[in-house]
Amino acid sequence: MALIVQKYGGTSVGNAERIRNVARRVMRWHARGHQVVVVVSAMSGETNRLIALAREIQAEPDPRELDVMVSTGEQVTIGLLAMALKAAGVKARSYTGAQVKIVTDGAFTKARILSIDEARIRADLDHGCVVVVAGFQGVDEAGNITTLGRGGSDTTGVALAAALKADECQIYTDVDGVYTTDPRIVPEARRLKTITFEEMLEMASLGSKVLQIRSVEFAGKYKVRLRVLSSFDDNDDDAGTLITFEEDENMEQAIISGIAFNRDEAKITVQGVPDRPGIAYQILGPVGDANVDVDMIVQNVGHDGMTDFSFTVHRNDYQKTLKTLEPVVKHIQARGIISGDKIAKVSVVGVGMRSHAGIASTAFRTLAEEGINIEMISTSEIKISVVIEEKYTELAVRVLHKAFGLEQAS
Ligand code: ADP
Ligand code: ASP
Ligand code: MG
Repeated sequence: MALIVQKYGGTSVGNAERIRNVARRVMRWHARGHQVVVVVSAMSGETNRLIALAREIQAEPDPRELDVMVSTGEQVTIGLLAMALKAAGVKARSYTGAQVKIVTDGAFTKARILSIDEARIRADLDHGCVVVVAGFQGVDEAGNITTLGRGGSDTTGVALAAALKADECQIYTDVDGVYTTDPRIVPEARRLKTITFEEMLEMASLGSKVLQIRSVEFAGKYKVRLRVLSSFDDNDDDAGTLITFEEDENMEQAIISGIAFNRDEAKITVQGVPDRPGIAYQILGPVGDANVDVDMIVQNVGHDGMTDFSFTVHRNDYQKTLKTLEPVVKHIQARGIISGDKIAKVSVVGVGMRSHAGIASTAFRTLAEEGINIEMISTSEIKISVVIEEKYTELAVRVLHKAFGLEQAS
C-alpha cells in the first residue's frame, strides 16, 4: 500500500465529464489499496475569468480581496470531485486550504507555504477516505485567505506530498510529461522520460509552466518523488516524466535537455548613470523595497564616467518599477529611462553544458542566422538565456530546438 498525492490541473477538471474521469482514475488507485490525496485546480479558464472580473471593479485589485475571490475557483472543483467520488460509492471528503490548515505567509497573490497540519488528512486516510484538497490556496497566521501565485496548485500538491511523506506526487495535466520545449510551440518536441531536478528547476524558473517553480523547489528540498503525467491517457508504469535526483541516475545524459521561454518580462534601462560605487544599489535598492523581483541585470562598461544599467522585471511589476525609479533617476542624475515590455527571454538548459564547450556559440550563431538580435545575455553553469524581441520568440525556440537536435527521432 502506498500513499499517493495526485494533482489535476484546470483542463483535467474542465467540465463535469472530465471530473467524473478524474474520479474514475482516483478510484482505480484507491481500489488497489492505496491511500490517495487529490489536489485540484479551478476549472480551466476560471481563474482568468475571476481575475478579469476583479479588474472590472478595480484596475489594480486589492490583493487581499482578490485572493478571497480568486480562491473560489478551487472550492468549486473540490466539492464537485468529492461528489463524483461519493456518487460512485467511494468515501471522500473535500477541504479548502484553510480547513486543512495550509499556513502561508501574508504575501497575498504570491504567498509561500509555511506549514501544513496533516493530522486531519491522515485520520481520514486511515478511515479509507479519499481526501480532496483545494490547490493554490492557504491561510495566513491572521486567518486571511491567501493564494500561491499562478500555477500554485502544483505547489499545494508537492507540499502535501512532502508533509505526508507520500510515496509519489503525480501531476496530471493536458500533456503526457515534460517535453524538450512547449509542444504547443514546437510539435516536434520530444517527451523526456526523466529530467534532473536541477534542470527542471531551471526550466520552470525560465518559463516552462508545466510545473510551478515553487513545486519543484519543494520537491528538491524534501526529496519528493515527482512525476508529470497525462490525465487523458491510460498510463503504464513508465509513463510521463520522472523528476530525478542526479545521484540516483544511471541514464544516458543529453547535453541539452530543453528550451524554455518566457514572455512575462519587461526590460528597463537607466541611461547615463554616473559610474561610481553604490550605483547598482541606489537603483535596485528601491526596486527591491517595492517588493519587485529583478531578473537579468546588465551593466555596460563605463566611459567618460557614465554607464547604462539594464534589468528585467515581471510585466506585472513593470509600471510599478517605472514609478519607483522616477525619483531615483532624478536623485542620481541619470540621463533617463528607456523601457519596453515587448521582449521575450529564451533559454537553453542542460546539465551537460558543464562538460561541453561551444553551446553558447552554437546558440548565438543559430540566432544570428535568423537575423534575431540579442539584447541581453545571462548564463549559469547549466543554462544560457537571451532577451530578444518578443515577435521572434517562436522562431527562436524552433531554431534552437533544431540546432541542438532535440526533435523526436523519426
Ligand atoms: P495544468 O492546468 O494541468 O496545470 P498547465 O497549462 O499549467 O496545466 O501546464 C501544462 C502546459 O504546459 C502544457 O499544455 C504545455 O503547453 C505547457 N508547457 C510549457 N513548456 C512545456 C514543456 N517543456 N513540456 C510540457 N509542457 C509544457
Ligand atoms: N487555478 C490557479 C491558476 O490558474 C492555480 C493552478 O491552476 O495551479 O493559476
Ligand atoms: Mg499548471
